[in-house]
Amino acid sequence: MEDNKKFKLIDKIYINGEFIKPNGTEAMNIINPSTKEIIGNVILGNEVDTQNAIAAAKKAFKTFSKTTIEERSNMLKRIHEAVISRADDLTKACVEEYGAAVKAAVGRTQLTANSFLWAKEVIEDFEFTKYIGKAKVVLEPLGVIALITPWNANNSQIAIKVATAISAGCTVVIKPSEFCTIQTQILAECFHEAGIPAGVINIVNGLGGSVGAELTRNPDVAMISFTGSTKTAKIIHHGAVDSMKRVILELGGKSPNIILDDADFTKAIPRAVTSCFGNNGQMCIAGSRLLVPKHRLEEVKELIKIAVENTKVGYPWESDTFIGPMINENHYNNVQRYIKIGIEEGAELVVGGEGHPKGLDNGYFVRPTVFANVTRNMTIAREEIFGPVLSILTYRTEEEAIEIANDTEYGLGAYISSSNIEKANKIASQIVAGTVYINDVMLEMKAPFGGFKQSGIGRECGIYGLEEHLEPKTILISNENI
Ligand code: NDP
Repeated sequence: MEDNKKFKLIDKIYINGEFIKPNGTEAMNIINPSTKEIIGNVILGNEVDTQNAIAAAKKAFKTFSKTTIEERSNMLKRIHEAVISRADDLTKACVEEYGAAVKAAVGRTQLTANSFLWAKEVIEDFEFTKYIGKAKVVLEPLGVIALITPWNANNSQIAIKVATAISAGCTVVIKPSEFCTIQTQILAECFHEAGIPAGVINIVNGLGGSVGAELTRNPDVAMISFTGSTKTAKIIHHGAVDSMKRVILELGGKSPNIILDDADFTKAIPRAVTSCFGNNGQMCIAGSRLLVPKHRLEEVKELIKIAVENTKVGYPWESDTFIGPMINENHYNNVQRYIKIGIEEGAELVVGGEGHPKGLDNGYFVRPTVFANVTRNMTIAREEIFGPVLSILTYRTEEEAIEIANDTEYGLGAYISSSNIEKANKIASQIVAGTVYINDVMLEMKAPFGGFKQSGIGRECGIYGLEEHLEPKTILISNENI
């Protein structure tokens, strides 16, 4: 795959089944993070556009909420097919605009397309009416849902959120990340192509402070489904209180990766590198704290050096690249700042460091960096860096490993490597995290995904995600007084 040089102008938003010129006039450049070239321009929507989108979604809800499971299931199938037919475009855009390594971008496109099929399978087996004692309980769609997505997972987050909302019979207004507008535009065209009724899916490109804020305060929005940072989530959660909105908040993490003494280190250590550096290290679930037995530290350092050497950082369109650039200049500077802090606070630099990797100073590339002798209170052990920076901490006993693992304000993910599955399971039961991966990273998109503590509220995916979009109504019928 080659870098695509065609200039993209995205000057329309998608409201009520039409691509229309926004009321907002602010323009923003779209920059290829691998080359810093301007590859396009987007005109951003504003509060008025957001209100129009909400009004369209509110109107569409009246009929869409009454559709049958079969009708919605067919819509999900049609979107899946539309995304498959644009798979190459979507992958290319993800590489070009976001800097995803092409292999990862292909996977992300598949995840995006398949999210609609998984959702379809979930509603086909779901009982929207249940009987509890004397009561009939009907699970009704909640209303208009605002979907707010981050730049590091824009496509798949839009897909998971739209698929679930459609499954539930809810209509949506999407505020995507403006750093991913080419990808969003392709998805909008897929929704349109799939013939989804007008107003069911609306998309307003725009800034968090205008479009996102309007979605948060508007009383016609029933729920915010947000994926992004804990900091922004707190603003949204506060703002949602006045109109008593429900919120699903999928947030950041500082996930521990515990390597037990009995693990095969030759497999576990390379896995630790990929589970932290995947998606260019810009991954909510990144295993960014590596916990290893103290007496094995020197061996771990040697294995880490080899694993990082074997992990190519480079242009994302090259097929063997694993780590591409950071999304933009701000984020590049932020990751550099953390590397500097790590050095200043006294952590030992095992590999990497400040600056660009050799030969890659034209883009926002950072050197994959690993620190050892990191202590629990160091900034790099506590804050989400969101780049390819791994911190190694040591433990003496398994109890201490669990204590260190849980010593974080986050609780999104955790990783355990061990040759003893029973023991790994026992440790998993003591880790405060939404998902625990034992011996590998795996995907089960019908299982709930979300975080404990400051990693979030609520769950996405499968039945758990669906139920967040439904409001139970209890109906009690007396036959005596007919
Ligand atoms: P941000 O929180 O900065 O932004 C997320 C979205 O919120 C963007 O679309 C942003 O718009 C919008 N936003 C910003 N301010 C407001 C506001 N006041 N009201 C409403 N919306 C607003 O996160 P990033 O985009 O930087 O994404 C990275 C973060 O996302 C990381 O912390 C990562 O861990 C987390 N994440 C969590 C996942 C999970 O499933 N748990 C998955 C993927 C990422 P704008 O761009 O205009 O600011």
